[in-house]
Amino acid sequence: MRAVTVIPGVPGSLRLTPDHPEPPTEEGGILVEALAVGICGTDHEIIDGHYGEPPPGTDTLVLGHEALGRVIEDPSGTLQRGDLVAGIVRHPDPVPCANCAVGEWDMCRNGQYTEHGIKALPGFARDRWRLQPKFAVGLDPILAPVGMLLEPASVVAKAWDHIERIGGRAEWKPQLVLVTGAGPIGLLAALLAVQRGLAVHVLDRNTTGPKPDLVRALGATYHTGTVGELDFEPDIVVECTGAPVVVLDAMCKAGPAGVVCLTGVSSGGRTIDFDAGALNRELVLENNVVFGSVNANRRHWDLAAEALARADQDWLGSLITRRVPVERYAEAYAHQPDDIKVVLEFAR
Ligand SMILES: [Zn+2]
Repeated sequence: MRAVTVIPGVPGSLRLTPDHPEPPTEEGGILVEALAVGICGTDHEIIDGHYGEPPPGTDTLVLGHEALGRVIEDPSGTLQRGDLVAGIVRHPDPVPCANCAVGEWDMCRNGQYTEHGIKALPGFARDRWRLQPKFAVGLDPILAPVGMLLEPASVVAKAWDHIERIGGRAEWKPQLVLVTGAGPIGLLAALLAVQRGLAVHVLDRNTTGPKPDLVRALGATYHTGTVGELDFEPDIVVECTGAPVVVLDAMCKAGPAGVVCLTGVSSGGRTIDFDAGALNRELVLENNVVFGSVNANRRHWDLAAEALARADQDWLGSLITRRVPVERYAEAYAHQPDDIKVVLEFAR
């Protein structure tokens, strides 16, 4: 069967392997036909040789962690033949740590977790894959065109879950949300904010392309320019750029009792002049919280599946700006202007 593979650490090793072995039954009892995988920045980092780890005993990693497939067979009876399914990316570490022991692998403490298509587990960019029932998430049939958005949506569902837990430490009636960055994570964060009845503002550097209209179609307000220029103080900031200046501005911008959730990963190595004392003063005197959030556990995947099923399906579909058949895989992994989410298609 076909599989998109790389040799982690070797730039330029991306290829479509035509005769990859069928998934072994040890991967799980549920056999799935791949429909599509979404592509994100992590895939590009792996392809560029900066990131990624092959499974033990091989130098090759199958890419793909934003999965959508159709069940071929599930002997456990959890899912039926033909059901839409996504695979949870992260598996708990084998020790396990205190968090992994209770299913909170998104909060793994020892870093020994594994991840499909990223770290020591084969990815989903292959014609067929297998899952254990506990890592299989069934999707509403209406999500067939967009179900590969479940993985980024799970990351956002976790961020919102933690924002609400932190905000709930005192009486909390948030109204205004600022999302920085209108990529897939930012747009899905804005969607979940709108679903919560909040007034949503999205800031991005793009003045053209599809992003402004996508934000307005949600009923949210689109801004360009700097965070400092905004004429309101958000109760919640969801930072999705990882750009150092935006991150610092976002931390300073939150209003009293504000919660700032950082989801963007900076590359580091860039120094900027910054008044750390002023930030400390702001955070203390306003009871603000800044926290980082990554990955998602089973509960967040299920919450994300509900959120996507409830969303406007045409809007979700317009986040997918290119759909590329797997035979033309190299095109899918090449950046194009105005890309939001690019999807590699297997079976139709
Ligand atoms: Zn762990």
